[in-house]
Amino acid sequence: MQKEKVVIIGSGPAGLTAALYTARANLSPVVIAGPQFGGQVSLTHEIENYPGFTGGTGPDLAETMRKQAESFGARIDMDVVLSVDLTHGSPFTVKTGNSEYQAESLIVTSGASPRLLNIPGEVEYTGRGVSYCGTCDGFFFRNKHIVVIGGGDSAVKESIFLTKFATQVDIIHRRDSLRAESALQDRARANDRIHYIWNTVTEEVNGEDGKVKSVRLRNIVTGEIQDYKTDGVFVFIGHDPNNGLFSGQLDMDEHGYVITDKMMRTNIDGVFAAGEIQDSIWKQVATSVGQGCAAAMATEQWLSSRESGIPEVPEVKAALEAEASPINR
Ligand code: NAP
Repeated sequence: MQKEKVVIIGSGPAGLTAALYTARANLSPVVIAGPQFGGQVSLTHEIENYPGFTGGTGPDLAETMRKQAESFGARIDMDVVLSVDLTHGSPFTVKTGNSEYQAESLIVTSGASPRLLNIPGEVEYTGRGVSYCGTCDGFFFRNKHIVVIGGGDSAVKESIFLTKFATQVDIIHRRDSLRAESALQDRARANDRIHYIWNTVTEEVNGEDGKVKSVRLRNIVTGEIQDYKTDGVFVFIGHDPNNGLFSGQLDMDEHGYVITDKMMRTNIDGVFAAGEIQDSIWKQVATSVGQGCAAAMATEQWLSSRESGIPEVPEVKAALEAEASPINR
């Protein structure tokens, strides 16, 4: 059993930023990396909108953040959390595959995972033509014809990336316009490998010999159904928060996002949350970094006021009082 002042669950930008800040506050945090070191950023081929970081990949950014946090004393445990017990208050019990931690404070940055279509054939052909990550799987579709499902930033950004490999990328969207940011839409429009299939939902993935061969499409305006030939199906229809470890313990909204206040506090004293596990709106590297920073500073204040018996500093008190005001809810 390892006793720790701060345990951070998740190693995306929010978690690694929380690690940097709590390490610099001499709290020697442990980050439990989870199944994907770096979180979703590791699945992103190009980061274009994180200020100060130009021309690098998502994994490059995660690695830079890791090194910076470690240089100040953060420790990374490349393990997966199996259970978290918050029921008795601080210290909290966190069990991983190989260790058990008693954490005085906890920062939850477990992020979100790609949403599934939940249609026949999707799970069966995952890894055999169905994918949720262009960076990971794009290479396997060199000179192929693929479809991308979704109409947000991820679908458009990944479609642009996938044209490095595929000869044709069809974006299948259930509306007649995209919701992706206009700069991305402009780039996609200028790319002659990208085509659009509007007002259409995908109802089935079909294949032969263990490989995707077609998708069944339904036009929601005309009702027309067609079996559309394709070599691959990339699904980018949003994300769901990774909240399974906390269900019944942390308060969540109706979509499963952990509820925090301005101090990144959850309903349990000593448990803070940051990044996509609690952010249903912004979901950017830059916002996750900011939230991770805030959670770390709030954690540090919480620990020091608990140790010293001195209540939180006046600015924090004022912020908390303002937070209690209904206008901020
Ligand atoms: P998103 O913005 O939620 O978009 C999801 C898309 O999938 C929407 O177009 C939605 O359609 C469609 N969709 C949802 N469920 C569907 C279903 N069952 N069948 C078919 N289509 C479905 O998700 P995202 O693109 O993953 O982006 C998530 C967040 O990350 C956003 O805040 C985004 O700004 C951010 N992000 C930013 C960047 C960047 O470079 N700035 C890159 C990636 C992601 P409707 O339009 O009809 O709802």
